[in-house]
Amino acid sequence: MKQFLFLLLHLISQPLIQSQTALSYEQARQAVLTAEEELMTGGHTYLSTQEAKVDDIFMEYKLGELSQGFRNAEQNAAALHFFKAKPLIDRSGVFRFLQKMPKGAVLHLHNTASVSSKWVVQDISYMPGMLRCTTATGRSVLSFRRTPKEHQCQSQYVRVADERQNSVDRQVYDQNFERLINLYTPVPELEYPTITHVWDRFQDMFDVIGDALAYLPAFRAYHWQMLEELYNDNVMYAEIRTSCKKLYDASGRTFPRERTIRELYALNEKFTKLHPDFLGMKIIFAVYRGYEVDQLKETIEEFKQIHEIFPQFVVGFDLVGQEDKGKPLYTLLPALRDLPPTARLFLHGGETNWFGASTDINLLDALLLNTTRIGHGYALAKHPILMNAVKTRHIAVEVSPISNQVLHLVWDMRNHPGSQYLALDVPVVICNDDPGFWNAKGLSYDFYYAIMSLAPNNAGLRVLKTLVWNSVRYSTLTEEEQTRAFKILELSWTRFMEKVLQGSVF
Ligand SMILES: [Zn+2]
Repeated sequence: MKQFLFLLLHLISQPLIQSQTALSYEQARQAVLTAEEELMTGGHTYLSTQEAKVDDIFMEYKLGELSQGFRNAEQNAAALHFFKAKPLIDRSGVFRFLQKMPKGAVLHLHNTASVSSKWVVQDISYMPGMLRCTTATGRSVLSFRRTPKEHQCQSQYVRVADERQNSVDRQVYDQNFERLINLYTPVPELEYPTITHVWDRFQDMFDVIGDALAYLPAFRAYHWQMLEELYNDNVMYAEIRTSCKKLYDASGRTFPRERTIRELYALNEKFTKLHPDFLGMKIIFAVYRGYEVDQLKETIEEFKQIHEIFPQFVVGFDLVGQEDKGKPLYTLLPALRDLPPTARLFLHGGETNWFGASTDINLLDALLLNTTRIGHGYALAKHPILMNAVKTRHIAVEVSPISNQVLHLVWDMRNHPGSQYLALDVPVVICNDDPGFWNAKGLSYDFYYAIMSLAPNNAGLRVLKTLVWNSVRYSTLTEEEQTRAFKILELSWTRFMEKVLQGSVF
């Protein structure tokens, strides 16, 4: 294969007319196209006769939607901002297919932004006792307790139930309430003209809802719903990043962090018992990247204790928050080196457009620190040596297309570097990051962009299947768990193929 590639490279590096080659123009042309197709993700994925038939059906829909988009750019969901594309995607045949397709695992998802905002309004905000107050900057804080110091509240606390009762129209109240935890706007280009506008609001939303979700009954209901939404979207397993906030109850009691993990563990047990084809979740302990080294060291001590108690459940460590504004990994090295050897790293890296800035170099430090996967890795394509290392060391890049778009790294998703990762067969897993904060649900919307915008026009089931299988392969499931996961996946995949062929998907 390599020799063949060299020959091809040699051929196309000189004008064909001058080359003394046996290949005709047509042959050379076809050879290059085939070679590129074989090089890319899914290039060597085998499709059965049944799968090949499904691929034909899928491609009919995909090419149909692409050519419609080509004729009418305003309706080209693959190139539009998610807020504008969502109504089109919801009506798309490709999307219907992706929703019902078993998607394997989601490996990059932050718990407090994981659930659809509609559900949060309908459920959490109707829980008795919810309070709201306002900070000096005008941001709302939702909670079930009055602790002024932590909330930085300047206003009085008001009961959400009272506010809703006294509002002119409850529906309008709920719509406004939802805006507190959802970035959606029909005009993102006007509302978020810069990355700072959108990141400030995004970061704020974690503070709006964070304390409400640490209320024990809300915490339980919310995380159950998180698993429900993943399961209903045909995701079979999740690795969740969480800061493991301390929980409290109605009597005002606060529990240590270990309790937070115990709660998640219990929910996981209960959910997987109810749904034996769901493999549950594991936890990645995530800490704010703005911390000073000493603060980080303290938190790492807490992580160590929890990891020791739950080595198979709390599997690793990460740093979160806007990378451009946080501390570079290099600065935090003294703390990060304290992590126990059994804890794996799942570092966000290269979530930036600043080529050569200190945060861009986070990618290098993440690799030197032996990260198991890379969160986003958006800037990876600018670093050929690192990209090569990622490939040869089988480090998966957690690509979250909608997140990168909403958070201002790319507008037209066809310019997303994920295209290059797929073209070069860099290990990629498709993730959703914070779907609840931008009107998405589950993983299917990100898969839509992956196959419609990141992958080439003629890519179908082979790419999709590879991405799905990647998600299990690059997870931290143990060997035994992985064997079971692949068995379940094979079964549900075959069932899905049958359904498509029976005509019950489209
Ligand atoms: Zn993230």
